[in-house]
Amino acid sequence: MSKDLEGKTALVTGGGKGIGKAISGALAAMGARVIVNYRGDAGAAESTASEIGGEALQCDVSDGAAVAAMVKSIGQVDVLVNNAGAVRDNLLLRMKEEDWRHVIETDLTSAFHTTKAVLMGMMRARWGRVVNISSVVGITGNAGQANYAAAKAGLIAFTKSMAKEVGSRSITVNAVAPGYVRTELTSSSMTEEMMQAVVEATPLKREGTVDDIAAAVAFLCSQRAGFITGHTLVVDGGLSI
Ligand code: NDP
Repeated sequence: MSKDLEGKTALVTGGGKGIGKAISGALAAMGARVIVNYRGDAGAAESTASEIGGEALQCDVSDGAAVAAMVKSIGQVDVLVNNAGAVRDNLLLRMKEEDWRHVIETDLTSAFHTTKAVLMGMMRARWGRVVNISSVVGITGNAGQANYAAAKAGLIAFTKSMAKEVGSRSITVNAVAPGYVRTELTSSSMTEEMMQAVVEATPLKREGTVDDIAAAVAFLCSQRAGFITGHTLVVDGGLSI
């Protein structure tokens, strides 16, 4: 990808590890100044930031006031990637309200807070890129993940609504829906057998990688994707077809 983002600032929520780390690296390679947001793991975020020449910034993105303060400290944000996410899996009958709320607030409400905080600057600049990291389970649903699937489906509708609201200012808003990728998030919720079953059911017969997801995000942030908005790009090796 060429240096499309030279002179631009990108904020990647949860950008210190896993998929977010790969996204941070890809946007830095496109010339952006990258802000690597994290919630708790300062070590991971600081090492990612130093690898890519970015800056690590702590903020719980489910906290609206904290997000507003973070964005104020950054200044203009041209590219926003809502990547922070968490799972608290359980069958609905066993799911605690606290686990429902935690996942909705971390995976969905966070995008409301961050997008609202950066939007005015993008509108004034008459240019912006927002990419929301959804999931294939936001399209297909998944037993044991009613909270997570609802949040990820919500992100898809949020993406389309925002695309309609801000398109006239040359701001594009898209979603990327990954299949299963080996990260801390999946290793906390999936066994090795479950991962093998996913590979078996995937037409491309391999696991997805963090770089597969970052490549899709980088494309949607590039100048070449300037006429794509409100779209959900599924990156799952064909698993959901
Ligand atoms: P990881 O668990 O590796 O990383 C999650 C990141 O989110 C961490 O950097 C974490 O920061 C951050 N985070 C969590 N809660 C908050 C918060 N409240 N405020 C700020 N940051 C927060 O997960 P993945 O890399 O796997 O997932 C990245 C995204 O991709 C998520 O949205 C996930 O739902 C989505 N996804 C992942 C798939 C997969 O198979 N891995 C499949 C489909 C979608 P810290 O560690 O500092 O707390």
